[in-house]
Amino acid sequence: MAGNWKMYKTPAETTQFFEKFRPLVERATHCEVVICPPFTNLFAAVDAVKGSSIRIGAQNIAWAKEGAFTGEISGPMIQSTGATHAIVGHSERRQYFGETDQTVLDRTKAALSFSLTPIVCVGERLEEREAGKTADVLAAQFQKGIAPLQPGQFAAIVIAYEPVWAIGTGKTATPEIAADAHRTIRAQVLSAFGKEAADAIRILYGGSVKPDNVKSLMAQPEIDGVLVGGASLDPVSFSSIVNF
Ligand code: PEP
Repeated sequence: MAGNWKMYKTPAETTQFFEKFRPLVERATHCEVVICPPFTNLFAAVDAVKGSSIRIGAQNIAWAKEGAFTGEISGPMIQSTGATHAIVGHSERRQYFGETDQTVLDRTKAALSFSLTPIVCVGERLEEREAGKTADVLAAQFQKGIAPLQPGQFAAIVIAYEPVWAIGTGKTATPEIAADAHRTIRAQVLSAFGKEAADAIRILYGGSVKPDNVKSLMAQPEIDGVLVGGASLDPVSFSSIVNF
């Protein structure tokens, strides 16, 4: 169960969040919990979750180890904070910051080379869904952004299916729509990496997940977890998602 805080909260607000959140999820042993705050909060977040099983992730990662890449953050920098995960290819990065399937692949490889777990996002836009192109879009994103990984690299990633039309809009994909997309992605995994990999890969659903819809989404065997934006900012609401 992963939370993406996007560009919200200061370090002080991060500490306050975890003071409330930790006791609410201390009995949650059924899942892994990861929160991805802005870069400036990584140290505060790692500090605030010490002694718990909650993990912290970054929201992006550079493809290079270091260099002249103003505004980027590298794997060693993320690693130095104690964070363990990195979101890669979020649709907001694709939409506003020119992220492509190739940069998604490069960033994913960088995360893996620094032992960070990449949460690699794919998903179709509204016009693509309405044109009946969802499966083609997911296949293309997978083929260019994920399939070139080595099998050993693939085994260490998490995929998030996030239909762009459902992110921050209050429009959740129905559990059936989400499960259908997850099946499409899993079929891609099967043909690229084989049955064992297809069974083992964790595919999260993301897009307006809230405490009142998480149960029906998680009831789909295809859905292995969720990536939550808005509802992860509030400790009570994210804890009830974790404890669905
Ligand atoms: C996200 O940012 O990954 C996301 C799914 O956002 P929201 O839950 O707010 O739709």
